[in-house]
Amino acid sequence: MAKIQMKNAIAELDGDEMTRVLWKVIKDELLLPYIDLKTEYFDLGLKSRDDSDDKITYAAAEAIKRLHVGVKCATITSNQARVEEYKLKQLTPSPNGIIRAELDGTVFREPIFVSNIHGTVSCWKKPIVLGRHAYGDVYKNCEIKCPTAGKAELVFTGVDGKEIRKTIMDMKGPGIIQGIHNLDNSIESFARCCFTYALDRKISVWFGAKDTISKTYDGNFKAIFQRVFDEEYKAKFDAAGIEYFYTLIDDAVARVMRSEGGFMWATKNYDGDVMSDMIASACGSLAMMTSVLVSPDGNFEYEASHGTVQKHYYRYLKGEKTSTNPVATIFAWTGALAKRGELDGTPELVEFAKRLEKATLQTIEEGYMTGDIARIAEPAAKEVLDSWQFISAIRSRL
Ligand code: NAP
Ligand code: MG
Repeated sequence: MAKIQMKNAIAELDGDEMTRVLWKVIKDELLLPYIDLKTEYFDLGLKSRDDSDDKITYAAAEAIKRLHVGVKCATITSNQARVEEYKLKQLTPSPNGIIRAELDGTVFREPIFVSNIHGTVSCWKKPIVLGRHAYGDVYKNCEIKCPTAGKAELVFTGVDGKEIRKTIMDMKGPGIIQGIHNLDNSIESFARCCFTYALDRKISVWFGAKDTISKTYDGNFKAIFQRVFDEEYKAKFDAAGIEYFYTLIDDAVARVMRSEGGFMWATKNYDGDVMSDMIASACGSLAMMTSVLVSPDGNFEYEASHGTVQKHYYRYLKGEKTSTNPVATIFAWTGALAKRGELDGTPELVEFAKRLEKATLQTIEEGYMTGDIARIAEPAAKEVLDSWQFISAIRSRL
């Protein structure tokens, strides 16, 4: 077969440990034989990031902005143990944090569904895409433990020197207080990321907050979402046949639990922290969860939700063929290739990505899978494969 041609390149961000090992196997077995793969390669392995004082991470972020599409392997976020293990010059910040800040982006997580893995919520027939606002609120808070009775006040001093002062509480005894904030800019970007990605996927957006109680703070979230939607997205949503739906957060939770899925759930920072873990665990396995970083102006970086699977890597170094699940990493590649094909007008690339996804799901649905999902498959797995066997089983179906 003639290899499928690509018009433009994808930013390729290599990573660490077991996922780096699988990265190469996926490329060699499932991509390079079929596609004349064009990528701009960035080695985001920990040592390379450290050697370049993180310049390579910033260069990779720049490439995603320029090419509009990137695919990323899981990477180590360094801590003291890693500094010693890899003999690093310094503690490097999280590469995902750097790229997210450079792109001003939001992360959307989405489970991959197969018919023989049943989530714990039986009415969910389609994936729920969860978007979490990753700035501010309680994650950038300021707290005081008040030792005595006293007056708690909220004070804002504007750049013009004008003061706004309100009493939180005349406290009759010792207690606790907390100050939190958010920024209109950040909320606007978050809203744009949600609407941009939902439009891309042709799914409706649900957003919930507690504006009946928090009339100013949560009310501001609600108002900004509505304004951004009306001014910039309403016409496009109408044309795509999808909608934006706002409801109170507790009502949103109740509706999500009895829905059949197939929409985006946009959440404030704390709600997203809690609810993304609920959705991930209800869907079975972290290894069956993809993640995409979307910038408000429409750049996309695809990756797996899980980390570098460190424990498996140490077993691999001792010579073991581990049964590490490559599905989320394969779907990161198919997501990026399909997006590239869509932007470039090369339908054969989009079609290839779809077929690779189909071959992957078919392999599992026929009973051949890695150990992590074999544990929860129903009907039971026919054969538990190591990663290399599993990838070649996908290739034979592809
Ligand atoms: P992890 O890599 O997600 O793995 C935690 C455990 O989950 C594994 O030990 C394994 O359980 C299971 N698991 C995860 N992915 C799997 C897969 N594909 N196939 C089979 N089992 C899988 O988290 P971690 O070990 O806590 O973190 C390792 C490194 O990853 C850390 O340095 C962290 O900084 C980094 N990390 C990176 C990202 C990212 O780049 N996006 C995200 C999270 C963490 P069993 O051992 O029970 O088989
Ligand atoms: Mg959480």
